[in-house]
Amino acid sequence: MLNSSLKQLSTLLELKKTSSVELTKEFLRCVKKLNQKYNAFISVNEETSLRQACDADIKIASGKASPLTGIPIAHKDIFCTKDWLTTCGSKMLSNFISPYDAHVIECFNKVGAVNIGKTNMDEFAMGSSNETSFYGPVKNPWDITTVPGGSSGGSACAVAARMAPAATGTDTGGSIRQPASLCGVSGIKPTYGLVSRYGMIAFASSLDQGGAMAKSAEDLALMLNVMVGFDARDSTSLQRDQENYTREFGKPLEGMRIGLPKEYFSEGVSNDVSRVVDAAITEYKKLGAKMVEVSLPNTKLSIPVYYVLAPAEASSNLSRFDGVRYGHRAEEYADLEDMYQKSRAQGFGAEVKRRILIGTYVLSHGYYDAYYIKAQKLRRLIAQDFTEVFQKCEMIMGPTSPTVAFALGEKSGDPLQMYLSDTYTAGASLAGLPGMSIPVGFGSNNRPVGLHIIGNYFSEAQMLNLAHQYQQVTDWHTQIPDEIKI
Ligand code: GLN
Repeated sequence: MLNSSLKQLSTLLELKKTSSVELTKEFLRCVKKLNQKYNAFISVNEETSLRQACDADIKIASGKASPLTGIPIAHKDIFCTKDWLTTCGSKMLSNFISPYDAHVIECFNKVGAVNIGKTNMDEFAMGSSNETSFYGPVKNPWDITTVPGGSSGGSACAVAARMAPAATGTDTGGSIRQPASLCGVSGIKPTYGLVSRYGMIAFASSLDQGGAMAKSAEDLALMLNVMVGFDARDSTSLQRDQENYTREFGKPLEGMRIGLPKEYFSEGVSNDVSRVVDAAITEYKKLGAKMVEVSLPNTKLSIPVYYVLAPAEASSNLSRFDGVRYGHRAEEYADLEDMYQKSRAQGFGAEVKRRILIGTYVLSHGYYDAYYIKAQKLRRLIAQDFTEVFQKCEMIMGPTSPTVAFALGEKSGDPLQMYLSDTYTAGASLAGLPGMSIPVGFGSNNRPVGLHIIGNYFSEAQMLNLAHQYQQVTDWHTQIPDEIKI
């Protein structure tokens, strides 16, 4: 059962071959067995999960089930969850129990899915390796000495190690796609505004977007069918008709034009990644897609622009953590000012402090025009590049990450090297476009390689079909790390 797709699990439940309680127990057993080794979960709450499973079984028995009813789903610990700890990977929130559910959590509760646990992540979603978590790094199940990617590394690891059939994640500059790539799973970040940010702890609000991680494009479509929807409590939530994200499945790719930006195939991509991505592109040609060379000339600006804008927004968003209303408060302090300072100095880790400093600097009087406003203008140019390219093709492809998973500790002392992990993903985030990563093979030391697909606004259904067609004729997405097989 641990290897089954969401659809298979749903069928098993429908045919009464298993119950949600049995299924949940099976995944909880797996979590118990593996989590110590991989550190993918921050919170597991057997009693609450099993209570939800009982309710799901009642729902199934009464004929009111929908596709994810009774299925265990892991949630990134950035989503506020009533009755659970919601830490955002930070000491600052290590004692925080939210009085309300995030919109995304409400969506899963409404259909009767079971929360199997809250997954580990980089602190406040700032990172590309999961090493900034207050709860310690997550390990990559393909090689325990390497990082799983970040910031949704716990979710990626949980799916890769079969501790959960699917998981939620969030992506600000690549945090769903990059860990999906490094852990050999599929992940999608929808168009900005499709998934409500209500109750999703804010990092950089103009970029943050919830999404899903799973074993296949088909499973991702089922996840989006539950997560996407208008929510008046998020001012950037989009009001659109309900979509069925599997609706394009089966459509042939014959004649579809796929743009290969020359910048994605030259700047910094390692040889092993490039070889595997080329092979995937060849497979797509066999499926009838037509490759066209395109250019995104401002690609080199996406990292500097992202690392001005994201910290600027973070410095403002994180000002709410002051030890007064919730979160960590220093035990000893002289006065109010001292309490703020000590609580924040103790509650935040080094990367979060670095971002707050950069963000405060670029927003300060005298530097605002030179950095923040300039970056906003360049963000517009980056988005325009994509608009132009989408005149010439329907989809864009390239590598998700410049390298396969790197060793734990290899880049943690060098923030600039770490930031370069987002070279190919940050652009789509700045433009608000949907992006996904699917496993397409293995690079050096048998570590997974992901293919990055970027689509035009609201093209999720077509993107998912593009991935699905590939997954019908290849089996990279079904590969399991050796250690898990035992
Ligand atoms: N790695 C990027 C960062 O550190 C992206 C993080 C994210 O998408 N949440 O900011």
